[in-house]
Amino acid sequence: MENIRIPRIVRETSRAHRLKGRSVGFVPTMGSLHQGHLSLVRYAKSENDVVVVSIFVNPAQFGPNEDFAKYPRDTERDLALLEKAGVDVAFLPQADAIYPDGFLTEIRINDISDKLCGAFRPGHFSGVSTVVNKLFNIVRPDRAYFGQKDYQQAVVIRKMAEDLNMDIELVVCPTLREKDGVAMSSRNAYLDKAERAAATVLFRALTEAASAIRQGGTTPLSVTKMMHEVLAAEPLVTEVQYAGVYDIRTLDALTEFQRANLLAIALKLGTARLIDNMLIELQTEQSGK
Ligand code: AMP
Repeated sequence: MENIRIPRIVRETSRAHRLKGRSVGFVPTMGSLHQGHLSLVRYAKSENDVVVVSIFVNPAQFGPNEDFAKYPRDTERDLALLEKAGVDVAFLPQADAIYPDGFLTEIRINDISDKLCGAFRPGHFSGVSTVVNKLFNIVRPDRAYFGQKDYQQAVVIRKMAEDLNMDIELVVCPTLREKDGVAMSSRNAYLDKAERAAATVLFRALTEAASAIRQGGTTPLSVTKMMHEVLAAEPLVTEVQYAGVYDIRTLDALTEFQRANLLAIALKLGTARLIDNMLIELQTEQSGK
């Protein structure tokens, strides 16, 4: 595995592979890697000749009162995991290589960046789309891999790629979960033992909502109410930012079920902010459309 810090060298390495007719798969991450990240690497390896993984804790996507400074970092462990997973290039840029003095550009995908998580994290998705755009321009991958865990992020990046005519295939991979259903996340490291046990409430609210929907006789409104009740019953939840049933593309709250429906939750458990989601596909007769 090549371990590269300088964007120009990653660009040249990736270009050399492409010139030899090799396809390049790319997995952007913020490090502190877990099995969820490694599953994206496996998808990338199965579909490409060469796999590039970036590790960059992007300051531009953290708000002033968010966890940038304490975000877990363990580069040595991450590199060992990537090497073992058969990654070809690990790209670990320094912040000033990505945002040199005088950097002025911001990529903003309107509307969908302001909903759900965007409403609680102003500027977050501009930070994400700007850095992903830069990473795409450096790596120039054929395919890029994202997790469904960050569903809104995948929607925003897909829209950016479409609107800006990017010639990159985006692949959204399923959420990997712990045995008790909790979605794997680097931020789970913030949870103490009691909070970690309480974190199952997200998966519980999602699965209970999903089975209620499948049984029929519900509306998005009644399912939303039910999700809030499940979350409210967990005393360690300090804030429910959103929970409900949303349009898979516009991310607006639904009043009628559609063929595909997004169930999504964001909440705070102690100081940790956790998100999770599930896609529910319905037969046409159950959905309004
Ligand atoms: P992060 O390092 O949190 O920025 O995540 C890097 C990529 O891994 C993103 O595309 C995430 O959606 C994805 N990811 C994070 N957690 C999981 C998970 N539990 N299962 C699958 N993919 C994930």
